[in-house]
Amino acid sequence: MSQNPDQKLPFLPFALPELGEEEIAEVVDTLRSGWITTGPKARRFEQAFAEFLNEPQIECIAVNSATAGLHLALEALGIGPGDEVITTTHTFTATAEVVRYMGADVKLVDIDPKTMNIALDQIEAAITPRTRAIIPVHYAGLAVDMLTLLDIARRHGLKVVEDAAHALPTTLEKELIGTMGSNATVFSFYANKTMTTGEGGMLVTRDAELAKRARVMRLHGINRDAFDRFTAKVPSWYYEIVAPGFKYNLTDIAAALGLHQLKRLPAFQKRREQIAARYFEALADLPLILPPQAPEGDVHSWHLYVLRLTEDAPIGRDEFIERLFEQGIGCSVHYVPLHQHPYWKERYGLTPEMFPESQKAYERTVTIPLYTAMTDEQVERVIAAVRRALGA
Ligand SMILES: *Cc1c(COP(=O)(O)O)cnc(C)c1O
Repeated sequence: MSQNPDQKLPFLPFALPELGEEEIAEVVDTLRSGWITTGPKARRFEQAFAEFLNEPQIECIAVNSATAGLHLALEALGIGPGDEVITTTHTFTATAEVVRYMGADVKLVDIDPKTMNIALDQIEAAITPRTRAIIPVHYAGLAVDMLTLLDIARRHGLKVVEDAAHALPTTLEKELIGTMGSNATVFSFYANKTMTTGEGGMLVTRDAELAKRARVMRLHGINRDAFDRFTAKVPSWYYEIVAPGFKYNLTDIAAALGLHQLKRLPAFQKRREQIAARYFEALADLPLILPPQAPEGDVHSWHLYVLRLTEDAPIGRDEFIERLFEQGIGCSVHYVPLHQHPYWKERYGLTPEMFPESQKAYERTVTIPLYTAMTDEQVERVIAAVRRALGA
């Protein structure tokens, strides 16, 4: 049994948000303003996000989750029954479930074991006459090679919607994800992401038609939003429903958090990079495959720091997680791949043998804590616990 000198220390959770006095003051200001749902702060947050991306003609549409943003993007692209959409099996179910919302079908592809991203060289084999779109996921915060992926999409006439839930502020060839030229990109501000609004997301696109449709469908299919009507110069009680839309708008309470989290994102990123660098240095001699890094000059967002135990590690993944837990360290597994889940497995008759690299990664994968609110001491605690768990 591994000894536990840290027994007295409080449990270190796998993830925690970092919210400061500025976020709190902005939320209080919102509460006192009388306008708590979607209004001026949601709009300011959209504008600030567009400025952050620093790309002319980019449209940012704030939504109450990334799942909602992915759904709106597929809806605006007209994905429907009879269509197929390709994505990776090594992701969270939200990436794929939105395809089913539209009545279309999901075609899962294995990962490249080096990057843990979708295996680009297996995408073309998954394309059929019914294929309409690809949803790449920038796993853990490492960019998918979008140049290759967009080229495949172009050659086959496919749409591309990026699931960038992990990828803020990831870059590829020095360009931020969100500006790579896909049809749409969706970021998540869920509680454990690189910045948070509690729940929230941002749909980003250069396609004005897509943006227009998504804005209408974000709020019940109304042709103008409540704040527009509230602030109109002339009395404006009249509105029109042009489609059966959804309830996906981001509240001003959430946007208040987002305004300050976005400002802090560069500092958050520095801290994440520091922690990742320390892990690389301190874990290099262990029977672990350390996570793939971004190419020289590019940014990995380090949303997740994913370890894989090597074949000759003294213990398996489950025991490793137990030993960390005994030492008061929370971990997670990203992900139980989609082909393992009853719904996806049964709907498409999937087996682990169809996704050997994802399956192998899954069986050996552990995500250790990496978040900005961690102190240096807590980072060292994680390192010591990992070393002890592996008998080093
Ligand atoms: C978190 C996450 C989502 C969903 O984000 P929400 O904002 O919670 O809807 C989608 N895809 C991936 C890969 C995620 O990690």
